Order: sequence, then structure tokens, then C-alpha cells
Amino acid sequence: MDNLEDLYQEIILSHNKRPRNEGELTPHTHEAEGYNPLCGDRLKIYVQQTGPTVEAVKFTGEGCAISRASASIMTEAIKGLSGTELDARIHEVVEMLTAKEEPNVDPFEVGELAALLGVRKFPARVKCATLAWHTLAAALKKEMQISTESV
Ligand code: ZN
Repeated sequence: MDNLEDLYQEIILSHNKRPRNEGELTPHTHEAEGYNPLCGDRLKIYVQQTGPTVEAVKFTGEGCAISRASASIMTEAIKGLSGTELDARIHEVVEMLTAKEEPNVDPFEVGELAALLGVRKFPARVKCATLAWHTLAAALKKEMQISTESV
């Protein structure tokens, strides 16, 4: 188990050091800003989605290693998902990080997302890991409002 935890820590540190998909996304159809006052993490998430599937996701922001790694892992974990799959994935990850009971997760199925599970032991850091996902959900919701207004 210790080895697995070392591996998870390594994944977090590597994503923090070399984040995937960091930077502004132009053009983009959705965006939202998230702030975690407990830690001071700030993230901005950009999504490009003109059809049913997400074409690209990028993020910018300043924060701790966990918040940045979570955003980086997220951008890879949601690639190619459609709207409903994406909602399900966001819900699944937030649930995995915040559920009272230890989640039953198959590391092979969730891939690097499993590395975020280490924060479950540190309740103060859970919000660092969920920030990117809540911000993504907010970004997607925002676009829905825009599209209903324009109908
Ligand atoms: Zn943080």
C-alpha cells in the first residue's frame, strides 16, 4: 500500500511540475473561475464544445500542487466525453473525493484520478482537489444559460 501511495504522490508532483493543457484556450465556448478560500487556490477553466463532445479543455491559475495536479489530470480525464458522460464523470470524481465511506475504486479504470484519493485523509485539502471539477461544472452550466437565453 505504501508503494501505491508513493506512486500517487509522484503523479501529483509530476502534474504540478509539468501540467497538461495549462494556458488560455482560444477560442472557447465555456469558462468559469473557481476560488478555494481555505487554501487560496484560484483556477480558471476553459472549454471548447460546439457539438456533443468536449473538443478541448485548458486551465490557468495559481494554487497548491494538489489543485493544479487535479486540474491537469482532469483535462486529460474528460477528453472526448459527451455532455451527459461529462456530468457523470464530474459527479463520480467529486463523490469519490468527498464520500464518507472509502470509495471502491479500480485504479486501472480511473487511471491517474486515483492519485487524488490521497487527499481523503486530509479533509482540509479535499477542496483543493475538487476545485477544478466544481469549476468545470460551473463553466458548463454557464454556457447552458447563455444558449437558453439566445434561443
Ligand atoms: Zn490547495
